[in-house]
Order: sequence, then structure tokens, then C-alpha cells
Amino acid sequence: MQLQGDVCVIGDGAIGKTAALGFAQAGLKVVLLAPASAVPAAAQGDAWDARVYALNHVAHELLSSLRVWDALDASRIAPVDTMEVKGDGDRMPGALNFDAYGARVGALAWIVEDGNLNRALDAALKFATNVQVVRGRAIRLSADAASARVQLDNGDTLSAALLIGADGGQSWVRSQCDIDIDYRPYGQRAIVANFNCEKPHRNIAHQWFSATEGVIALLPLPGQRVSLVWSAPDALADTLLQESAAQLALRVGTASSHVLGALTPLQPEVVKSFPLALIRPHALTATRVALVGDAAHVIHPLAGHGMNLGFADVSALLTAVSERGPHRDCGDARVLSRYVRARKEDILLMQLATDGLTRLFGADLEPLRLLRNAGLNLVDRLPGLKRRLIGHALGNRSL
Ligand SMILES: Cc1cc2nc3c(=O)[nH]c(=O)nc-3n(C[C@H](O)[C@H](O)[C@H](O)COP(=O)(O)OP(=O)(O)OC[C@H]3O[C@@H](n4cnc5c(N)ncnc54)[C@H](O)[C@@H]3O)c2cc1C
Repeated sequence: MQLQGDVCVIGDGAIGKTAALGFAQAGLKVVLLAPASAVPAAAQGDAWDARVYALNHVAHELLSSLRVWDALDASRIAPVDTMEVKGDGDRMPGALNFDAYGARVGALAWIVEDGNLNRALDAALKFATNVQVVRGRAIRLSADAASARVQLDNGDTLSAALLIGADGGQSWVRSQCDIDIDYRPYGQRAIVANFNCEKPHRNIAHQWFSATEGVIALLPLPGQRVSLVWSAPDALADTLLQESAAQLALRVGTASSHVLGALTPLQPEVVKSFPLALIRPHALTATRVALVGDAAHVIHPLAGHGMNLGFADVSALLTAVSERGPHRDCGDARVLSRYVRARKEDILLMQLATDGLTRLFGADLEPLRLLRNAGLNLVDRLPGLKRRLIGHALGNRSL
């Protein structure tokens, strides 16, 4: 069977689904390729997802424009009103605070569960008239001046003017296009789990940096609940994963100086882990192909921005395609170079910032400890710089 669309999206993560919806709502014919074994988002239950994302204003605007944001279960979303970042200095501990009031926005970000997000995207895709979801395994990709084509292992072929690689950090599309990458493992794993907290969190996202223990973030969930993302060095991560969720809660309580009182695991107890690495592809596009989301960049989660960068990619690609002019198709080389120009700087800045912070706070050397903690305090007292940093975290807004 031969399937033809204007746009073919490979990958059914949140970014691939959003891209498919965006192009379909723009009136283009979309084919979305999902793996044959893809598992649909879990049915809504009471259990809280250990996988959550801090979504910024770019994500909020894009998902709202696609009518997905309003389809999210709002009772399970917590706004982040304040961010409190703490360093690890004994003599001069660093601290940096941001708040929504200072940034003149309603919220700095929103904490959304993976299941909540994917259920809303799946529901929107079900009703989208221009999207055909195909399940299968792609085995070959080819592209020329006329179109991009993907062959599946059952002999079917998908072809489109534009092929979008949204197939995650280990992107098959990227390797088929011979796009090289810089790959650097951080020697850390992110441990995620959810806890009840004894004291109200007041919609504050807390983050603690330590050279020996990594980065601990506690993100607010609705009610007296928080979500942990602990980017721990591998050896410590091994220990944490061998312990019970109750032991993990005790450790996090101590590491957070009990700011939220006693922490106890949410039921059912779920602790997950993710290896952390920096992946920088040498190109964002190839002939008739654009990479988006983790296929285009994998960064350290300390800033909570990987998914947000992906939403910004989709937004930029939608704009480049919609402004292509009457005589160009959506995979035209000029459309793709416009996409690259729109995204290059933002992606590079986020890669440099997250990588730089990971290195700076990963070094257990006293002079660096002094420097980084002084740096946090300095940024906290420089309103101009702080405003620019917040603006960037919100998604490139000038405040
Ligand atoms: C611990 C942790 C915390 C994080 N917190 C945040 C946060 O707070 N905020 C934030 O913005 N980001 C966060 N991130 C980053 C975020 O998780 C990723 O950036 C995001 O999930 C990437 O989405 P994606 O759709 O591009 O890729 P993925 O979620 O990896 O999806 C790729 C999809 O492609 C499919 N696929 C793969 N290969 C093929 C193929 N050959 N054919 C068809 N389909 C294929 C896969 O099945 C998958 O569904 C965090 C990351 C980690 C590890």
C-alpha cells in the first residue's frame, strides 16, 4: 500500500503528536507513523504519574492554539508561582528566586503529568480529520527534490513533501539522514517519584544543587503533593534505586532541609530512572526532513526544558510552512532553512546553559563552589540579568 500526505511525522511522543495535529489543523494532509508496539496513554486513574513536565508559556500557547490545553484535566495541573534555587556553599550558600509576580505573568510554568498530556493529544488526534495514524516499523528512508519516502517492513510506503523526525533521542530518522551527533553521557541518572508533603508547597518549585549528590528538584503537584526529579551521579542513583520509596522520601526530606516537612511516598509507590546525556545533532534538517523534539536535541533536565524546546520547534516549523508562499511546498529547502534560522540560537543557548550549569555544579572543588554560589547570589541581585533569564525560561519573552 502507498500512503501519501503533505507531511509525514515519524514518532508518536508528545512532540510528534503535537506536530501532526498542528499541520492537520493548518489544513495539510498528515500521516503519523507510530511504532507497531506503541502503548496508548494509560487510562485516567487516580494514581499520579511519576513522569511530569514543567511546561512553559511557549508550550501553553501552542497547545492552547491547537485546543489541547483546554482538554487537559485541569484538576491535575499545578501552576508554578515561584522558583527557589539553592546552591551548596557552606560558607556562602547561593540562592536565586524567581516569581510570577516579578515576571508579570500568571504562572512561571505548569506541572503536567505525561498521561494527562498524552490523553489530551490522543483525543484531539482521534477527532482530527486530516491525520492518518499508521503503526509499523520503518526500514528505509529516501528523499529527493520531489518528496521523502519511508518504506515499512510490511512493504507499505509513506511519502510526503515534508518528513518530520520526532522519534526521540535515539532518532532513526536522524541516522537515516546521516546526521552525525555529539553524544556525551553525564554519568547521572534522573530518579523520579511522587511524594505527599506535610507542609503546603505554595506552588513553589524547589531546586538544590550539590556537587556530590547532583540536582534535586521538587515540583508542585495539586494538593499537598510534590514530584521529585533527582539527577544523581550513577553510583548514588544505583543506591537510591535499590532502596524503598520510603527511604528515598527520607533522603529527599533531609537533602531539602525539610522545607516541606516530612515526605511520604504517594501510593502506589513508583520510582523510575532515566540515564542523562547531552545529544547535539550536527544538523536540524536534511533534504525534505526536519528534526523536532529530542530527535533534534537532548539536554540535561535540570532546567526542565527539553519538551518545551520541542514545542518551540513545532511552533517554528508550523510558521515556516505557513509562510512558505504560493509556489513552494512544505518541504522546500527555503522552508527548512527558515526553520533552522528560527531555532538555532534558542537551542544552542539552552544546550550551553544546561551543560554549563551541570559542569559548574558537578565539580567538587572549593574555588568553583565559591564561584557558583557567588554567581547565584549575584544573578539574584541583578534585576536586568534576572529578567532576561526569566524571559528565556518562559520561552523568549521580553519582560
Ligand atoms: C527526568 C526528566 C525530566 C524532564 N522534565 C522535563 C520538564 O520538566 N520540562 C520539559 O520541557 N522537559 C522535560 N524533560 C524532557 C522531555 O522528557 C523530553 O524532551 C520529551 O519527552 C521529548 O519528547 P519527544 O516527543 O521529542 O520524544 P520522546 O518522548 O522520546 O518520543 C519519541 C517517540 O517516537 C517513537 N519512536 C521512536 N523510534 C521510532 C521509529 N523508528 N518509528 C516510529 N516511532 C518511533 C517512540 O515510541 C516515542 O513515542 C525531562 C526529561 C527527563 C529525562
